[in-house]
Amino acid sequence: MAVTEVAQSRRVVTEIPGPKSRELQERRVAAVAKGVGSVLPVYVTRAGGGIVEDVDGNALIDFGSGIAVTNVGNADPRVVERSAEQLGRFTHTCFMVNPYEAYVDVCEALNRITPGDHEKRSILLNSGAEAVENAVKIARSATGRQAVVVFDHAYHGRTNLTMGLTAKNMPYKQGFGPFAGEIHRMPMAYAYRWPTGPENCGPEAAAMVIDQITKQIGADNVAAVVIEPIQGEGGFIEPAPGFLPAVVEFCRANGIVFVADEVQTGFARTGQMFACEHEGIVPDLITTAKGIAGGLPLAAVTGRAELMDAVHGGGLGGTYGGNPTACAAALASLEAIESDDLVGRAREIGDLMLGRLRKLAEEHPVIGDVRGRGAMIAIELVKEDKTPDAEALGKVLSYCHSQGLILLSAGTYGNVIRMLPPLVIGDDLLNEGLDILAEAFARL
Ligand SMILES: *Cc1c(COP(=O)(O)O)cnc(C)c1O
Repeated sequence: MAVTEVAQSRRVVTEIPGPKSRELQERRVAAVAKGVGSVLPVYVTRAGGGIVEDVDGNALIDFGSGIAVTNVGNADPRVVERSAEQLGRFTHTCFMVNPYEAYVDVCEALNRITPGDHEKRSILLNSGAEAVENAVKIARSATGRQAVVVFDHAYHGRTNLTMGLTAKNMPYKQGFGPFAGEIHRMPMAYAYRWPTGPENCGPEAAAMVIDQITKQIGADNVAAVVIEPIQGEGGFIEPAPGFLPAVVEFCRANGIVFVADEVQTGFARTGQMFACEHEGIVPDLITTAKGIAGGLPLAAVTGRAELMDAVHGGGLGGTYGGNPTACAAALASLEAIESDDLVGRAREIGDLMLGRLRKLAEEHPVIGDVRGRGAMIAIELVKEDKTPDAEALGKVLSYCHSQGLILLSAGTYGNVIRMLPPLVIGDDLLNEGLDILAEAFARL
């Protein structure tokens, strides 16, 4: 099961994408539905650490982790070994037909590592969207209420219910309606764009949300408030200080289930095991996916035993949810996160990136804001009057891509560059990636 080590250095030997990737892209266009996009169509052969290798022999620096998934790195040997061992024993029984230990192990681990000392239960699913859908089902069933509160700039997935919960129309929702009812959208505590200034943002936004819930929905009708403790696709928006604690307190006082969607922020990504911990928030339910299993598809809802167990027998489940191979990968990945102290490593990555990006922002006024925590860092590009500058973002990204740096965008206005390196990337690759980014701004 020996995995050849991927050399940890960038190598650009063709145009990017190279000729072999372009050939594959032609086949893809003829075979794959157009609605599925790719940020950078280089076709991958191998990846590990902070490097992704392509069919043309290029080695790219990875600032994306497949959207915050390969926190422990691609093909981590422990993940590979444990999932291969499981694959060799059995591939599927369906937990709802015949259970197996690895599913229980993963639930025990999630109950242990998620915030709060209360008694918890978990359920395993296949995708982040499915986890969010199930959290809403559980909250509605447990409270006997229907309304769900979500926020501006939120992203919760692409299924019908989660499209409704997601804020941004294009590309996620356009033409796909009608969406589910009883979804109510509230202002987000977006400090950088708060009209009365960042220092007022947390308390003012919380007051607006509480007022709107009380006056427009009625707190007694609200089953759940669903929020990302740092918004992902919406542009790495950290709720202004004080906002989350005030919303949680209001939920507690009114019997509303507080759901933290940690699908993107979970598993050491932000320099805590979960981003809620930055403000000492203990969610009633927490949804996880992306970083959970070192790249294999797995998701979960974890939460208070009395809520989770309120659903009638047979009310939750799914054919593949908690697939044994994905569970084996999750167990190896969680062990790697803990034994390699990837929480600590995420903080180091954050310090390095924030330090360099803040300097870069002083030199380039187009960088209006530098924000994020741990290895979840973003810069927001703006024109002189602070209006979003998506055009500058396009230029920066295409230069970085041409130099072999995998870099993603985000944001409601498409003007945020987000950085999500694997937590096992070395400082030299991080610095080299940031050098390329700096050069991109110098060329603007
Ligand atoms: C990615 C994401 C989802 C959806 O996860 P999928 O696995 O793509 O269904 C939900 N919530 C958040 C916060 C996400 O970042």
